[in-house]
Amino acid sequence: MTRRVRTRIAPSPTGFLHLGTARTALFSWAFARHHGGDFILRIEDTDVARSTQEAVDQIIAAMKWLALDYDEGPFYQMQRLDRYREVIAKMLAEGTAYHCYCTPAELDAMREAQRARGEKPRYDGTWRPEPGKALPPVPAGVPPVVRFRNPTDGDVTWADMVKGPITISNRELDDLIICRPDGTPTYNFCVVVDDWDMQISHVIRGDDHVNNTPRQINILRALGAELPQYGHVPMILGPDGDKLSKRHGAVSVTQYEEAGYLPEAMVNYLARLGWSHGDAELFDRAQLVAWFDGQHMARSAAQWDAAKLNWVNAQYLKQMADEPLAGLVALHLQRRGIAAVADEQLQRRCALFKDRCATLVELADWLGMYFVPVEPLAAEVAAHVTDAVRPALQSLRDRLTEIDWDKATIAAAIKDVLGTHGLKMPQLATALRVLVCGRAQTPSIDAVLALFSRDTVLSRLQAV
Ligand code: GLU
Repeated sequence: MTRRVRTRIAPSPTGFLHLGTARTALFSWAFARHHGGDFILRIEDTDVARSTQEAVDQIIAAMKWLALDYDEGPFYQMQRLDRYREVIAKMLAEGTAYHCYCTPAELDAMREAQRARGEKPRYDGTWRPEPGKALPPVPAGVPPVVRFRNPTDGDVTWADMVKGPITISNRELDDLIICRPDGTPTYNFCVVVDDWDMQISHVIRGDDHVNNTPRQINILRALGAELPQYGHVPMILGPDGDKLSKRHGAVSVTQYEEAGYLPEAMVNYLARLGWSHGDAELFDRAQLVAWFDGQHMARSAAQWDAAKLNWVNAQYLKQMADEPLAGLVALHLQRRGIAAVADEQLQRRCALFKDRCATLVELADWLGMYFVPVEPLAAEVAAHVTDAVRPALQSLRDRLTEIDWDKATIAAAIKDVLGTHGLKMPQLATALRVLVCGRAQTPSIDAVLALFSRDTVLSRLQAV
C-alpha cells in the first residue's frame, strides 16, 4: 500500500453510540492500527436541530470505554463551514457546480409531471449550464441552491472492500444539491470535503451509505481528489431479522457498560459480528489488530446474539485478574449505594464467584450479600431450616465463635457438627446458605463463609 492508511468514524451526535457505529469504529480502528496508520474521529453535527453536546460526550465516553483511541479529532463539521463554502465557491468558479433557482413549488410540479409520464422523478437540469445553452433569466428574490454538475454518461465503479465491485450508472444520479438556499452545505458534500481534507484512505461504514458513494466519488473526482477505498459493512440484525434497534433491547454501548460487560469482551464480540479469522472466537485486541487486514469482512448481515455475548463476557470475566476485577465490581456495588472498596477481601470474593457469572452485574448480585443484610424467602427458610437441622446450626454457631476464621478450620467445624448430629452435608450446608447468603445454592459453603466477617455470620445465625 503506497498511501498512508487513514480511517475515520463519523458519528452524528443525535444520540448515544449505537452498536452498529461502534462496530464500524472498531473495524476502522483495527484496520488503521494493523497498517500503522491513523484513526480519526469526526463529529457530523450539521443537523443542528438534533445534535447535542451531551451526545458528543456520550460518544466520546463510549469510544474511550472500548479503548478505540483516535489519533486526530474530534473534528466538528459545524466548525468547518468556511472551508465548505470555500470549496463551493471554487466549484462554482470551475463550473463543476451551478446555481439553481427552481422554487420548491416548481420542483414539486416537475416531479409530478415526471411521475404522470411514468418517469423516475429527478431534477431536469433546468439551470444546468451546457455549452450553447441559454439559461432562464435569474428570478428576483429567489435564493438559489448550489447543485453539483454530475456527469451524465458513464458509470461509477468501485472495488468495495466488503461487497466486491459495485457499478452505478450516472444516469441513476441527478444533480445533487450541495448547498441549501440559506448557505448551509449538505451532508454528502461535507463528507466529501472532510474525507478529502483529512486524507482518508479507507472509508469503512454501514451499507446504508452505499447509495451515497457514487455521488461522493463523482464530487471527489470533480475536485481532483484522490479517491479513498470504500468498504460497506452490512447492518447488524436483531434476532427477528430486522435491523437491530431499541425494539430488540439495548443498542447503546453505554448500556452495555452499565449492564456489566467488559470492554475487552465487547470488542471481541463486536469484531466477530461481520468479520472472522478462521474459526477464532476468543482473541484479544492485539490479536485482532494483527489479523485485521481488511479481508474477511462478511458480505451478509450479522445477527445480534445476546447469548453469545454473555458467553464471551463470561470467558473474559473468568480470565480476568482479581485485582482489576475487584475494582470494577466495587464500582458496580457503589452504584447500588454499597460502600465497597476494592481491597484484598473483595478480590478473594471475586475469585470465588467469577466463574459462575456472565456479567459484572451478576457478580455484584452475588457479592451484595457480603455488604448488606440478606432477606431469605420464608418458603426457603421453612424448607431448609428444619427442626432436624436447627440444633446442628446452634452448635455450629457456638463453634464458630471460637475457632480460627479460615476456610479449613470452618470446614473442620462443619464436619464435626455433622458427625455429632448425624446429618448429611447438604442438610446443614443448605440451611447455612439460606440464612447467611439468602439463597440455597452457592459455591462451597466453607469458602463462602470464610469470606464473611465472623460477626456477620454469627448474627445471621442468631435467629435460629
Ligand atoms: N454520519 C454518518 C452516520 O452516522 C456516517 C457517514 C460516513 O461514515 O460516511 O451514519
